[in-house]
Amino acid sequence: MGCLFVLSAPSGAGKTTVAEKLIREVSGIKRVVTATTRSKREGEREGVDYIFMSREEFERGIKDSIFLEYASVYGNYYGTPKEQVKKVLEEGFDALLVIDVQGAKSIKDKLPESILIFLLPPSLEELKRRLITRGYAEENLLEREKKVEVEIACARHFDYIVVNDFLDKAVEAIKHIVNSYRHTKERVFKDIEKLVKDDTIKDILLKG
Ligand code: 5GP
Repeated sequence: MGCLFVLSAPSGAGKTTVAEKLIREVSGIKRVVTATTRSKREGEREGVDYIFMSREEFERGIKDSIFLEYASVYGNYYGTPKEQVKKVLEEGFDALLVIDVQGAKSIKDKLPESILIFLLPPSLEELKRRLITRGYAEENLLEREKKVEVEIACARHFDYIVVNDFLDKAVEAIKHIVNSYRHTKERVFKDIEKLVKDDTIKDILLKG
């Protein structure tokens, strides 16, 4: 069974770009599709970028406990369907969940073995610049800016902190985190049939 990696960052720190590059360049890891009640942006596809739900559907989902975690972000619901995580892990992949900071904390509470990676913006000025470039409405921009400090303070609860000053460097660092996890003894023992082909070595390892 694979591992659940959670990538979080304040809005504008570039986590989507980092996640996309990571998925393209590392084999054996898949992104978990999460659900939202916000409306579809241009170019977004149902089931690929998000599972788009009405508020009623989402609230029914909360009642039926279909989410591993959910949060209200800028007035819309966002949530991680348990089924989506299960699907990726059962297919034999490591799972990458790209969600907000509060969601990441809930995941760690429920699944302590998950690995939390916090992506830091290089500076607050740069973060602001990126938010302005995205063209958020003034009121939305202020709300996002206020949230940033609270979010950065949460980095201390994460397992890893990566500064996103250069895309390639940040992705490289996350590749190392994933690869390092794949060589922990817990993972090797879990996947011993796949990883250790020699029966004698396998026996010795398992007998201890
Ligand atoms: P956007 O609307 O820009 O796609 O996403 C807004 C924020 O919600 C981003 O920080 C994104 O990572 C986060 N998000 C997306 N899916 C989930 C989820 O399932 N749970 C939580 N807690 N946050 C999510």
